[in-house]
Amino acid sequence: MIIVKSLEQLTFNPFKSPFALVPTMGNLHSGHINLLKLAVKNNYNPVFSIFVNPLQFGPNEDLESYPRSLERDLDVLKENNCHGVFIPKQEEILENVESLVAPTSDKLCGKSRPGHFDGVITIVNRLFEIIKPEACVFGAKDFQQQLIIKHLIKQKHRHIKFISAPTERDENGLALSSRNNYLNESEKIEASLIFKFLSSMSFELKLLPQTNKKNFLSEMESIQKKYHKKIEEKGFEVDYLELLDPKTLEKFELNSQKMLVAIAVFFKKVRLIDNLIIDLTSSS
Ligand code: AMP
Repeated sequence: MIIVKSLEQLTFNPFKSPFALVPTMGNLHSGHINLLKLAVKNNYNPVFSIFVNPLQFGPNEDLESYPRSLERDLDVLKENNCHGVFIPKQEEILENVESLVAPTSDKLCGKSRPGHFDGVITIVNRLFEIIKPEACVFGAKDFQQQLIIKHLIKQKHRHIKFISAPTERDENGLALSSRNNYLNESEKIEASLIFKFLSSMSFELKLLPQTNKKNFLSEMESIQKKYHKKIEEKGFEVDYLELLDPKTLEKFELNSQKMLVAIAVFFKKVRLIDNLIIDLTSSS
């Protein structure tokens, strides 16, 4: 496994082409490893970057306490035959970085975390420029992030192929996340209720007749309100629970057959996000 720690080393093109960049903040779990496997499946050498990006944390967020486990991460990557890792120094990445503004920052996580996606897109753009991958892999758990990166690619990096990885969950359905480390085992089981609620909400939404748009939208809103309440009653503080058009992140209006159900909650001071895409044409 090739480990690169400086911009200078990158100028010698250390990674073997074609390779896919998997940007992460470390503290790797099996969701991240699935991204690695997907890169390989698509015939790319996986190259991870591990960088806790300070620009994507708000002033009252968990930058200081964000879990870091570099030695273990490197072991896990090596065990999984990762081709390369880039572990940049913060100064080298931030120096003279071009600040970018992300689209859709007025929606979902962008709205709740001002500046978050500007920080993400600024650093991902920087990584694309210095590492020059042929492809990249991002997880569907961060659905809005995926949209923003696809937009960045369209604007500035058209040659980079975008690979989307499905959300990896634990045995109870909780979406894996480095922030789950803040929860103990019984709290994780409680937190998995979010996925159960999303799933049964999706089931109900799929059963709605689509013949009358007005009725559909009004029923849809009742279901949304009902679940908002149910989720809060279980001790979650709902930041948002929204039903949207997955292409635009605008409110779902029955103009497309796919619906994005997106949620963010605070639970035991941890912010958890999850989402499902519902296909209203299929019954499964
Ligand atoms: P992070 O290290 O949390 O910034 O995540 C790095 C990448 O891993 C992002 O593309 C995430 O969407 C992806 N990722 C994180 N958790 C999961 C998961 N449970 N399933 C799939 N992808 C994930």
